[in-house]
Amino acid sequence: MDDFNLLSDEELLKRLGELHKEERGKLPWFIACLGELDRRKALEKRGYSSTFDYCVRQLGLSEDEACRRIQAARAAVSRPQLLPALAEGRLSLTAVSRIAPHIRRPDAPEIIARAEGKSTRELECILAPLSPESSKRDLMRTIAVAAPGPGATRNEIKVHFAFQGSPALREAIERVRELLAHKFPFGGLNALLLVVVEDYLARNDPQEAIKLGRGASVGGSSAIAAPVRRAVWARDGGRCVYVGPGGVRCESRRMLEFDHRRPRSRGGENSVENLRLLCRPHNDAERRRILGEGKVIP
Ligand SMILES: [Zn+2]
Repeated sequence: MDDFNLLSDEELLKRLGELHKEERGKLPWFIACLGELDRRKALEKRGYSSTFDYCVRQLGLSEDEACRRIQAARAAVSRPQLLPALAEGRLSLTAVSRIAPHIRRPDAPEIIARAEGKSTRELECILAPLSPESSKRDLMRTIAVAAPGPGATRNEIKVHFAFQGSPALREAIERVRELLAHKFPFGGLNALLLVVVEDYLARNDPQEAIKLGRGASVGGSSAIAAPVRRAVWARDGGRCVYVGPGGVRCESRRMLEFDHRRPRSRGGENSVENLRLLCRPHNDAERRRILGEGKVIP
């Protein structure tokens, strides 16, 4: 091997470019030979259980590498135009392996043409409509996973999240990933989304505002002093205090509003004694009860 540490940056770059071109030029040959051996079932005759077995055991490829090459090889048997596209770098091996499941479609030549020169994300957009998935409900399920480490006898409790999001959400997440790259270089979704959600809560959750001494800011609270908001929130436990005719307390933590027991329009004050927390449905119900059905509330 050349003494490459003696080469200048320019020489190294030139050599790297040549090697890349060489490697890319050889790949279609590899793919074509593999495809032909696979078609003839020649490897099984020689004692390998499959083409995959041969690639992993004899050639020392990783399982992923073997899968991508075999998918590409089988696709190229039926669509030989994939080989020059690979050689010239118009399609990557990954792209060919992704196109492979669709290769028997009559419009495969158009799909191949559209895929050339595209990024992985762009290719996904081309291929996704070819095998549409049914719409699924959002999922959040508690699961146990074996904790990493030797022996792995301990389980960790995790939550399995699954949902079908929009491309806009993906773009937004990618942007957050960029902004937080210094903090989370490997950008796991759990860490990223936790930062975003905690940031939202810090700014919008009245419970957090109480902790920070800012006073809860929820519906109808603009004219109420922060210490009063804090006191009402603490007394009511951050929950709706509505009690139904049967004695059942609501206790909802959603859509809370400060309700005036004696309405402001009737001289009710913004005092701790006159205020209470109600969820919006119960606040509406109370207003209707006091002011009469159908009246416009000022
Ligand atoms: Zn309620």
